[in-house]
Amino acid sequence: MKNFDIKKRIPGSELSALNRIVRAFHKNNYECFLIGGSVRDLIMNRKCSDYDFATDAPPEVIMKLFRRTVPTGIKHGTVTVLTDGMAVEVTTYRADGKYIDGRRPESVAFSKSLKEDVLRRDFTINGLAYDLINDEVIDYVNGIDDIEREIIRTIGEPVSRFSEDGLRTYRACRFASNLGFAIEENTFRAITETLDVAKKVSAERIRDELKKILETEKPSVGFEFLRKSGLLKQVLPELDRCYGVMQNKFHIYDIYYHSLYSCDAAPADKPLIRLAALLHDIGKAATKRMGNNGDYTFYNHEVTGAKITRAIMKRLKFSNDDIGKVNNLVINHMFHYTEEWTDGAVRRFMRKVGVENLDDIFLLRLADRKGNGSRNGLPEPIKRLKKRIDKIIEEENAISLKDLDINGNIVMERYGLKPGPVIGKILNELLEAVLDDPEKNEREILLALADQIIERIQG
Ligand code: ATP
Ligand code: MG
Repeated sequence: MKNFDIKKRIPGSELSALNRIVRAFHKNNYECFLIGGSVRDLIMNRKCSDYDFATDAPPEVIMKLFRRTVPTGIKHGTVTVLTDGMAVEVTTYRADGKYIDGRRPESVAFSKSLKEDVLRRDFTINGLAYDLINDEVIDYVNGIDDIEREIIRTIGEPVSRFSEDGLRTYRACRFASNLGFAIEENTFRAITETLDVAKKVSAERIRDELKKILETEKPSVGFEFLRKSGLLKQVLPELDRCYGVMQNKFHIYDIYYHSLYSCDAAPADKPLIRLAALLHDIGKAATKRMGNNGDYTFYNHEVTGAKITRAIMKRLKFSNDDIGKVNNLVINHMFHYTEEWTDGAVRRFMRKVGVENLDDIFLLRLADRKGNGSRNGLPEPIKRLKKRIDKIIEEENAISLKDLDINGNIVMERYGLKPGPVIGKILNELLEAVLDDPEKNEREILLALADQIIERIQG
């Protein structure tokens, strides 16, 4: 068996903790192997985010062997061992029973055999075990070959493996995107043949896989696998629909590829901006019209797009915070800055987007440009807009209602008003005045202005 210098790839402090765990099992006559994604990542010399072990010891024994444990997935035989500042998952060998709902095994049977445990896993590259004590990789499924050939292949017959658990089809696309691997021909065909099983996977699990694709270096790779297999049409029909929809003379790509390349160009560590980039033009297919000049227009596509974005994210059970954030980026992505903007206009823009979202809207604009084939960064005028914004933030001028040197209570008291829409109207008018001239943000001046507004409303 090949030696991959795996030990040298594990940081020293972690290695000694892992060795201690394995020895505790051995001392009690149990087996314990590093397994799955961690072995794959170590062989590929990629950063290994978490270590998983497999053992023939039953869960209650695992919990007795270590002082600090958490029964994280006890029904499936998973116990988390806390040691030396690490949290390591240890799972009892399993031989999964029959699957009934295309998602979860009907029953979990523990097994005494590592091989049996490997055979229930999803892909050959995820089916490797590593014996830390003897420094040996155990490969029952030709996983090493597939890592070297850069191929995702199911362990066993793909249609039946995907029929057991539809989530695996999304995982195949995700691993292909993350590792830059191809999906083996039969495995890929089987995704298309089992689409009705994938349909049954819960929205939350699909969302988590999509998020993971958004965090890969090139999400476009993952989305292309989703599209070509038919999964995209099922899970994001709105995006699938953009495929082949050409734009106008300003664009070299169709809407679909422009969306994918914009997504690639957004920062990998900001999945919500990646998602906003993927969806920013999602309203274009529905708003495409032939303009007077003989070319296509997409008026108000950002408004339609924000609505579609909201519906997609709701369907996929994203949190309200995430929905609000992405929706805001999509609806505001079309700003057209010119040097003629007054300071008031800049402040209004800041208020509309939200000061906390300004960096993100510029990152989105940059991604949008790159996704259109531009190799340049932001154009000069936008860089100047950023400078003007920075200056305004530095001077701490009023931007939102809560920054006004006055509030609803003061207004109500002064005019003997009860809470109601008129208070909001007054405050918003005051804010407009302050946005145009920040010097007006002083209580005395605002009250004088409020007097005029009241007179006008009540007059
Ligand atoms: P990463 O953590 O980098 O996303 P991973 O391979 O570690 O990748 P996990 O979801 O952490 O993936 O799962 C750990 C291991 O459990 C996998 O490597 C695989 O062997 C097995 N596994 C996970 N999900 C499934 C599944 N749906 N069907 C079969 N085996 C699975
Ligand atoms: Mg993992």
